[in-house]
Amino acid sequence: MSQQTTREIINGIRGTKTVPGVCMICPWHCPTENFVKDGRIEYVRGNEYAANRTTRCVKGISSIHSSRDKDRLLYPMKRNSAGVHERISWDQALTEIAGRLKKIKDEFGPESLVSLFHLDSNEMFTHQLFGHLYGSPNLSGHGAACDQDRRLAALSTFAHPLPVKDYANSRFVMLWGADPFGPNEALHENRELLEAMKRGCRLIVVDPNRSRTAEKAHIWLPIKPGTDGALALAIAHRIVETQSYDKSFCDEWVHGLAEFSEHVLSNGYTPQWAEGITGIAKETIIAVADEFAATKPALMDGLKGLVNYTTGLDALRTVFALNVITGNIDGPGNLILKEMSPLGFPLEIPEEEATIPEKPPIAYGMGYPLAPDLPTQLLPKAVLEDDPYPVKALFFHVCNPAMSDPNTRLFEKMMAAVELSVTVDIYMSETAQLSEYVLPEASTYERAEVRESMWAGPQTVLAQPAIAPLGESRPYYEIIKGLAEKMGYGAYFAWDSWEDWARTCTAYLPVPYEELKEKGVWEGELRYRKYNTDGVPTSTGKFEVYSTMFEEMGYHPLPVFNEEHRVKPDADYPFQLVNCKMQYHCGTHTQNNPYLMAIVGENYVEINSLDAARLDVREGDLVEVASPHARATIRVRTSEAVQPGVARVPHGHGFGRRFGSIARGRGTHINPLFETRANPVSGGISFNECKVKITKA
Ligand code: SF4
Repeated sequence: MSQQTTREIINGIRGTKTVPGVCMICPWHCPTENFVKDGRIEYVRGNEYAANRTTRCVKGISSIHSSRDKDRLLYPMKRNSAGVHERISWDQALTEIAGRLKKIKDEFGPESLVSLFHLDSNEMFTHQLFGHLYGSPNLSGHGAACDQDRRLAALSTFAHPLPVKDYANSRFVMLWGADPFGPNEALHENRELLEAMKRGCRLIVVDPNRSRTAEKAHIWLPIKPGTDGALALAIAHRIVETQSYDKSFCDEWVHGLAEFSEHVLSNGYTPQWAEGITGIAKETIIAVADEFAATKPALMDGLKGLVNYTTGLDALRTVFALNVITGNIDGPGNLILKEMSPLGFPLEIPEEEATIPEKPPIAYGMGYPLAPDLPTQLLPKAVLEDDPYPVKALFFHVCNPAMSDPNTRLFEKMMAAVELSVTVDIYMSETAQLSEYVLPEASTYERAEVRESMWAGPQTVLAQPAIAPLGESRPYYEIIKGLAEKMGYGAYFAWDSWEDWARTCTAYLPVPYEELKEKGVWEGELRYRKYNTDGVPTSTGKFEVYSTMFEEMGYHPLPVFNEEHRVKPDADYPFQLVNCKMQYHCGTHTQNNPYLMAIVGENYVEINSLDAARLDVREGDLVEVASPHARATIRVRTSEAVQPGVARVPHGHGFGRRFGSIARGRGTHINPLFETRANPVSGGISFNECKVKITKA
């Protein structure tokens, strides 16, 4: 007798039907299962055929509310002459937007449209309409506010944008400014890390804050904020000096070891030098370097705690170089250069129908030719000054730079200046409030997605609509299809149902469509050391610790520690403001969620209890946090987890959520305090470079 799957057991008990989906709350996009009865989502969990098995985090489980939230956008809206958004029909919205886009293209060229998005796989429809057909080179994700520096460091070292972690097979893991046990990174990775630690894997955490991950680490290095690059270079110095790198691997697969070695030695990046900068004792640096070099397999990686400084890009280049020179790359227990599934485009657009833009992407003109994503924090200045060229239309798809970028006031000015602004979202976000047209998207429970997952091997997720869209909301692919028809491109978007394009996208997978549909995921083989068979797609054919890409563009080919651009606390503004994420929230979409808001309903500033005593404030008091640019009032939490002199604030809360009855009036929007600061090479936002003073409110 065949055994019942747990899906079948749950459906038997609840009288439900399972529809595979995907979680879109945070960037890990876990494959999910939705259990549906009578057009309502009754229960959700992780997909049992995916690496998470059946688990989801608290944010993911709680997101069931978004399938029922009465505060969601339910119909298209247009701002009237009094500045109020009023309901219009889909036909009016799409006809007017299409007409205005055509006029803008005729007058200013296709590059005058900038289309911004988060991480939605349905963005492929925007790429086909606004990219291939309309001809804009300015389609960009939100990377500048997130992993921009990590991606550029990875591209320059590995020619791969997204190394992932094979904790399961590792014996030494060193995490820099990453807190996977806190606000969650990929759930299966966290479980694998804990299991590896039970088997003896060592965990070293570099973080100014005693994060949840730091609490579980064998060694926590409480580094001074923004100085990780000095520590990484000192570890490199020790490994080069003792020649404890992997010589035979370097001979075959590493470009620039000699230059890298000479660079770290001749510049005096010694552990002693780093001790004075980082606050980490030289003996500790030597011990960690020796252990890392002696332990295989190992991996080192960093994330937002590292990249939110102007020193972050070179810090990560050094961290990635350390993986490479010790031969710890793409093998079991290393950083893995993820292989993608063989997915196709949903539409076929003949080459002769594509519009080739005459001008380069706007990031080039801004002086960031290597930026993986548009430095969105610099967009307002570019738009307001028509530099490098006019931008007249802004299209936002579930991204909210009014909340996620610094210098909110400048963003508002830009929104008032453009000729056309459109936001597609499931909520009336702050960016939607500033847009002329607001289009309601169906939630993840009501739409299809074909996407690559974050698992280390190739893995496709086929998420399917589980319930009907709320109100008049539409899946994104229907919105783009409608717009394409009005713009005269309807012939290319001629599918009848989502399954037509989903079949096209997945046609090259070695799995029958019906099986993929039933399981919701397809997983290929996780191949290790692919460089042995496929090579390394850098210009030298090797992993580069001396970057030819940087050299060609006139940047330093080797990583340095340069504090020239850093903002540090001073006598007038004695605190370093750093941002973080909460375990229970992600961006703004979780803030109208009653379950999550019942756990934590607002953000706060965390300061060390010694600082709190000096300022005469106690847990729960209101304080004013002021930077040279703006001020904000927020509640205090006292904690030993942050160092004296550091003020830590979870970002993405507060501001003007007019339509969110649960979120309204809760929390403090901290981003107006930040100056517009960018890494000079990547254009990534240096969020943590903000000095503030704190006084009792
Ligand atoms: S980690 Fe949590 S919020 Fe993020 S995608 Fe997975 S279930 Fe969703």
